[in-house]
Amino acid sequence: MAKATDTPMMVQYHQIKDLYPDAFLFYRLGDFYELFEEDAIKGAKILELTLTSRNKNSENPVPMAGIPYHAASNYIDILVDAGYKVAIVEQMEDPATAKGMVKRDVVQLITPGTKLAGQNGDGKTNNFLAAVVHDNAGMAPAKKGEAPRPYALAYIDLSTGELKATFLESAEEVLDELGALEVKEVVLAKQDDLKAADVASLVGEKGLVVSFQGPAQPSATLTYLTKDLKDALGQAVTSLLLQYLFDTQKRSLDHIMPVQAYERQAYLVFNQVTRVNLDLVQNARTKQKAGSLFALLDETKTAMGGRLLKQWLIKPLKNRKDIKARQDVLAALTADFFTRGTVQDQLKYVYDLERLAAKAALGTLNAKDMVQLKKSLQAVPALQNALTGTSSDPILQDLGAGLDPVSDLAEVIEAALVDDPPVSVRDGELIKEGYDDLVDSYKQALTDNQDWLANYQEEERQATGIPTLKVKYNKNFGYFIEVTKANLSKLEEGRYTRKQTLTNAERFTTAELKEHEDLIFAAQTKRYDREYELFLEIRRQVKAEMHRLQGLAHDLAKVDVLAALADVAEERHFVRPSFHEDGNRAVNIVQGRHPVVESLLPAGEYVANDVTFPQDQFIQLVTGPNMAGKSTYMRQLAIIVILAQMGSFVPAEAAELPIFDQIFTRIGANDDLVAGRSTFMVEMAEANLALQNATAQSLILFDELGRGTATYDGMALAQAIIEFLAKHLHATTVFATHYHELTALADAYPAIENVHVGAKLSDDGRLHFLHQVQPGAADRSYGIQVAALAGLPGPLLQNAEKILAALEREGAGQVEVEDTVKRAAEAAGSAEPDAKAPAAAFTKPSGFAQDLPLFEVAESKPSK
Ligand code: ADP
Repeated sequence: MAKATDTPMMVQYHQIKDLYPDAFLFYRLGDFYELFEEDAIKGAKILELTLTSRNKNSENPVPMAGIPYHAASNYIDILVDAGYKVAIVEQMEDPATAKGMVKRDVVQLITPGTKLAGQNGDGKTNNFLAAVVHDNAGMAPAKKGEAPRPYALAYIDLSTGELKATFLESAEEVLDELGALEVKEVVLAKQDDLKAADVASLVGEKGLVVSFQGPAQPSATLTYLTKDLKDALGQAVTSLLLQYLFDTQKRSLDHIMPVQAYERQAYLVFNQVTRVNLDLVQNARTKQKAGSLFALLDETKTAMGGRLLKQWLIKPLKNRKDIKARQDVLAALTADFFTRGTVQDQLKYVYDLERLAAKAALGTLNAKDMVQLKKSLQAVPALQNALTGTSSDPILQDLGAGLDPVSDLAEVIEAALVDDPPVSVRDGELIKEGYDDLVDSYKQALTDNQDWLANYQEEERQATGIPTLKVKYNKNFGYFIEVTKANLSKLEEGRYTRKQTLTNAERFTTAELKEHEDLIFAAQTKRYDREYELFLEIRRQVKAEMHRLQGLAHDLAKVDVLAALADVAEERHFVRPSFHEDGNRAVNIVQGRHPVVESLLPAGEYVANDVTFPQDQFIQLVTGPNMAGKSTYMRQLAIIVILAQMGSFVPAEAAELPIFDQIFTRIGANDDLVAGRSTFMVEMAEANLALQNATAQSLILFDELGRGTATYDGMALAQAIIEFLAKHLHATTVFATHYHELTALADAYPAIENVHVGAKLSDDGRLHFLHQVQPGAADRSYGIQVAALAGLPGPLLQNAEKILAALEREGAGQVEVEDTVKRAAEAAGSAEPDAKAPAAAFTKPSGFAQDLPLFEVAESKPSK
């Protein structure tokens, strides 16, 4: 807030600050960005700056903290990574020639979603900014017979220019898509009814949700970028996103590519819970990349490849042809070790071309970046040659032939720029000798003058008889003659003009020295200006080839990912999976493995398991003690499915799969206690999501569903859910359970098969896990033996044994319930088959639980 006592500068500061009240204002003052007032106090704390004050001696000193302008990007990164916005205020005119207050203005607003990768940014992570609109006027596009999709979402990575948009059915889908993309900032339309709080919970405490008014009238640029979207809602959301970028970045953003529409349903769909459960991009426990599937697969050599691999992993395909296309290249690269090695050797020289191209467009490409660009481009011919020349595989030859190495640009940079230029593009040392006559002549003038200076020193020494006389240079005083105090008397009167006095010496200039100093400075200035001019010209040329560079970047990223997957396939003994024709839902995985669990065990200790679902037997009930390997077994299946559909090979000896449309998981205890939901509530919500949305092409993993409530409630729900799956959904399901009673369901439903993970007791009563999945139900739970392995006290365990024996004698647990199930099955024998169930799939009619409630038995149970 402005004060009456403000100096003119503080008046200007407040005028700008009032427009950006929620951003840190970096106010340019000479060589510094200054923070004032509240910004200074808060910023000093976060950035560990010294807090000083302006007008210290006045009544109202202004708190102030300064950041040297050349180090600003690090400080900006810290603030933005912590979820703040930073407004950069620059001097808009030359202070030397300005009349009165130097004009200043905001040139860029940097936010979490618009930050360009900084030095400490992870190149293998996209930085997405998204916008969402909700159409409550019912204008949303819906294809005939499909649910309306009133939500539109658009997202962009400003550092690469990749822009995409889609339509979604529900707020849940929106939140899920934002989560999958790890969006850092979301722009919502003003007055939209989307709950900012819900969105905020997703982008996390360091993300940002902003409310923004889109453009009333789209500009020509907006029209061009949204041309591929036919409908108003899609254009609205993309325009909202882009206008926000234009308004905050205040510069041309020519690298942004026209929006690509995509369909969530075109990919294998799974939600955030599943991504976490399967440790896809992060280890769920440590929240680190290490211990994730992504880490295991990431043999990519470039940042672009890393980002693309993650995108493939998050969005596996459903289209058979597209999967096959990836597999074909992967197979060729896996088979040709030599070509792959050469390709990867060259990829090591390739920098982040995608981001370099974007920098050229944004005008932030410096000479060092340009040399990186050149080196990247220079690696391409050898890479291309390996594919087209060395390899005899037509698929790889085509791949190589399709690359455009943009060599013309590499040649331009090679000819003009020195190999190790400075960061600053204003201080020369950029242009190679022989490239430009003018630069060379200025350099020659400088050299001549340097020679003259050396001579001049010698002449002066002779003339004055002072052997220690020196001609020197410093930044503040330019060139001068330095003479020690003891020798001052030897100087000729009137010839030397005093410039500076030191303790032991005096510094002088002369008319001749001054003349040459002017010549040197003039040549220097001209040289810097000329070099800068040439540099800008090359940058224009780079920008002109931006689309070719983006194309090349994308092609190289793809090669990089496929070569990485080939490395993984070879090192970890993966095989190419095959896919059944539509309609055949059988799963046949021979000796499958969970690659991440396997990688964490000593070599040879992982026990491979077949996963077999014949066409009409689509539910497996998995029993076995805790720690036996039930959830590893079910995750292994999901991971193999994801790998297969992203085009990768899979950890097995052989694999035949259907193409799945969705994966649902309910695994582990991810209590949502922050949101105030109990374990049981979370379990049921996740189960519900699967039951409401799964189709016969979906894969469902349920791990110990129902254990969050009283035993009989839980068992009742578990049974009802299994029956619902068997009768109505027909989704491929793995259901791990401790309720042994449920295994009797396999007798009633041919769709259900029992398997168990083996364990055995050794002679001393210790439990040994075999990790081997075998047909049939487990005979017992071994809960007490697992507790013994966990180290519970002996007497306590003996007591538990006694209680267990008593419970079993009194008829609790499996025996009685199993009988009831059988009775129920018999009672249901004459019932009408369920209308929706395929007749052939069920030799025994079902629905017995409704007919004869199994859980009446519960009343007679001993209550504890
Ligand atoms: P459960 O779900 O039955 O409680 P998990 O699947 O969580 O058991 O497995 C427990 C541990 O057993 C895993 O962390 C892993 O170390 C080991 N394990 C599981 N499956 C295998 C296997 N197939 N081969 C070797 N070790 C395994």
